[in-house]
Amino acid sequence: MKITLFWHRRDLRFQDNAGLAAALKSGHPVLPLFIYDQTILEKLAKQDARLTFIFDQVERLAKEAHEAGGGLLARYGKVPAVFKQLLKDYDVAAVYTNEDYEPYATERDTAIGELCEKSGVEFKAFKDQVIFAKNEVLTKNGKPSRVFGAYSKAWQAKVKPEDFAPHPSQRLFKKENLALPHPADARRPTLKELGFERHEQPTPPARLPDADVVKHYDKTRDFPADNRGTTHRSVHLRFGTISIRQLMHQAQELNVKLLNEMIWRDFFMMLLWHYPNTSYEAYDPKMRHLPYRNDPEQYRAWCEGRTGYPLVDAGMRQLNENGYMHNRARIAAAGFLVKQLFMDWTLGEHYFSEKLIDYDMSNNIGNWQWMAGTGVVAAPWFRVYSPDSQQKQYDPEYKYVKQWVPEFGTAKYPAPIVDHKFGRERAIDLIRKGRNA
Ligand SMILES: Cc1cc2nc3c(=O)[nH]c(=O)nc-3n(C[C@H](O)[C@H](O)[C@H](O)COP(=O)(O)OP(=O)(O)OC[C@H]3O[C@@H](n4cnc5c(N)ncnc54)[C@H](O)[C@@H]3O)c2cc1C
Repeated sequence: MKITLFWHRRDLRFQDNAGLAAALKSGHPVLPLFIYDQTILEKLAKQDARLTFIFDQVERLAKEAHEAGGGLLARYGKVPAVFKQLLKDYDVAAVYTNEDYEPYATERDTAIGELCEKSGVEFKAFKDQVIFAKNEVLTKNGKPSRVFGAYSKAWQAKVKPEDFAPHPSQRLFKKENLALPHPADARRPTLKELGFERHEQPTPPARLPDADVVKHYDKTRDFPADNRGTTHRSVHLRFGTISIRQLMHQAQELNVKLLNEMIWRDFFMMLLWHYPNTSYEAYDPKMRHLPYRNDPEQYRAWCEGRTGYPLVDAGMRQLNENGYMHNRARIAAAGFLVKQLFMDWTLGEHYFSEKLIDYDMSNNIGNWQWMAGTGVVAAPWFRVYSPDSQQKQYDPEYKYVKQWVPEFGTAKYPAPIVDHKFGRERAIDLIRKGRNA
């Protein structure tokens, strides 16, 4: 019997899933598939909270598929090799999936598309993880926008109720539309077999945030001590355990400020797709050869939250412990590394990429390059935030700091590793020289 494989990646849900809904209408029974990609897994530490999260979601999907009268196939390996084998093991009519805009993913998908074509198998990818992708929102001159305000305005003018409409994947996900894995595939790899140990970090439930949180978001979002001040849904957006359409629809109805923050996500994904080189180098060629300092001792102090700047240290300790950091602290910590310490933004980007449970290449690259003044969109290179002013403004009673830096205010807390005024002037001076070199 011919089947359609539905390949899950950043969309670990059966509800409101664009590609899955299309697969279920493809005329062939659908077998959901997840591949533990060896190329990605090889780079991770043995205890990785993301991998534990993914593993649990795949197991949950397998259970849900079983309850619906189907099954889920999970394999480990290099993706092309896995597909070559799958096309031998099953009579595959089509492979459906959802688009992924990161540089590695676009190359991988092109290769798999070609492999399928050679074998006479249809390969289709659908837009699912953003509202608008690629070239859907352009400037009047037909170029990708480089100004967020203009992009957001055009995005909001373009969006229609149907862009938020759910795809009927859940309704169609029933026995008569599903295929079963071969008995030899009934067993899925365990975390241990994948070479990992369990490492759990706190994540919120995979459902919409409380309406109350969303309604007050514009007033509460900047205060890191307020645990209900933001939605905490970034991990679910990263792995597609909640539909972006549902979240953005809720934001559109209840809080336009939140909608605007989420539009940043579409914006950065669009930019990374257009400029994949920004994943490893400054967008602005003038900012590619700056004389960064990269002092290992100070870098370690930053990583461990021992800089003597409490908002930076609290953020880094929250990151190290929970794999999450409040946006205000991300701004303070990133700004401190790239300006006061004048270190290469790619060092900080890399550290965040190892630690954040919500690590998303486009958001991380976009925000780091913004902070460093090197990006497609960027803060002016001479802007240097003061960690102390941010502390006074966003955590005036040191509530967030006391939560994460228990020794703050005692003799054990370190003195600042760099003077703000000195660091600021040094950064401006070195960037000016580097830009003109
Ligand atoms: C240096 C730096 C690195 C960052 N790295 C990441 C990252 O790897 N992954 C990630 O998801 N976010 C990243 N962000 C953006 C932001 O800090 C997080 O999305 C947010 O803190 C997640 O918490 P939340 O879900 O409660 O956000 P909320 O404030 O509730 O926002 C809701 C959603 O909107 C989106 N969003 C909000 N702010 C931004 C923003 N500035 N840029 C892009 N999207 C945004 C996110 O998808 C977020 O989940 C980074 C920000 C900075 C300054």
